[in-house]
Amino acid sequence: MAVVSYKCPHCGGELIFSPTTQKYKCEYCLSDFSQEELEALKPEEGSEEKAVNFEEDTQEENTTEKETQEEAVIYHCPSCGAEIVTDETTAATFCYYCHNPVVLSGRVSGEFLPDKIIPFAIDKKQATEKFLDYVHSKKFVPKAFFNKQQIEKISGVYFPYWMVDMDMEGSMQAEGRNVRVWRSGDTEYTETKVYRVEREGDVHLEDITKNALKKSNAKLAEGVLPYDVSKVQKFHMGFLSGFLAEKRDIERTELNKQVQQEANEYGEKILRGTVKGYSSISVKSCHLNQTQENWDYTMLPVWTVTYKGKNGKMYYYSMNGQDGKVYGELPIDYKKVWILGGIVFGLVLILALIGGYLL
Ligand SMILES: [Zn+2]
Ligand SMILES: [Zn+2]
Repeated sequence: MAVVSYKCPHCGGELIFSPTTQKYKCEYCLSDFSQEELEALKPEEGSEEKAVNFEEDTQEENTTEKETQEEAVIYHCPSCGAEIVTDETTAATFCYYCHNPVVLSGRVSGEFLPDKIIPFAIDKKQATEKFLDYVHSKKFVPKAFFNKQQIEKISGVYFPYWMVDMDMEGSMQAEGRNVRVWRSGDTEYTETKVYRVEREGDVHLEDITKNALKKSNAKLAEGVLPYDVSKVQKFHMGFLSGFLAEKRDIERTELNKQVQQEANEYGEKILRGTVKGYSSISVKSCHLNQTQENWDYTMLPVWTVTYKGKNGKMYYYSMNGQDGKVYGELPIDYKKVWILGGIVFGLVLILALIGGYLL
């Protein structure tokens, strides 16, 4: 496992992926490089150390602490040599000292090599503007939530997802009814026609998308969906340069059942949707046999801001890094609500007084 960073062949500056040009840009000499040019470059590698195992000295320590120490790996920045300490799922980050972007290549290779990626199309400046537009359109958000310091913490993160395509053979038996009511003299007639309805067909489902990171907020991870999958690209480590990235820690075996169930629900809905022309339909049986499935481990771009509210609660805001769709849970400043509440109450009181006076 190693840590890599991409350097400009002209000046040695760092290369980062630019969402606006979809090319790699050198921050120093402003040169641009295409995907092919970057892939031809050999990234600079930093060293890696196995974490020190404290087992001998700390036999008294509890096992959970030992385990985390064993899993931690210390990296050295290829630019300045400083230590880079990471979480277990970190796949790309910045050196704390020299701010050099680094990719932990071992965490995006082998069994953890992503199949696909949708690169960022919205850069930090656009993300910040959209974020400000969004919070300004909401009432009662505390000022501290969008002060300058807070805004600077907005970060672009590639989150891991599973995207599943599925082919199924489906068959459905249902009962359709048509009812006709008419009168003749004093008699009302009701005619009910019952039809046996059968459907058979192939169902193809595309891009059932599931969050693959335990620590991400599930609402947030799904709130930014869907993405335009026509822009999906084959994964390359270079895309991560200049962003944060997380590696998956949820395997497909853990999601199999849930995906299967969702696929069956969609499948039944699709088959049922083809039955038309009856006043009521009841499905008697529905069978879906899966004939093929394909799981792609995919990195999706998200801009995020987290904010710790006064009550200690964490608030999250996230934006689809491809189209700017916003999902967020915003803190509410109750003082602001009270002031507005007071004004409304005041107005009502004044109106009532005027009303009372006039009457
Ligand atoms: Zn350069
Ligand atoms: Zn460094």
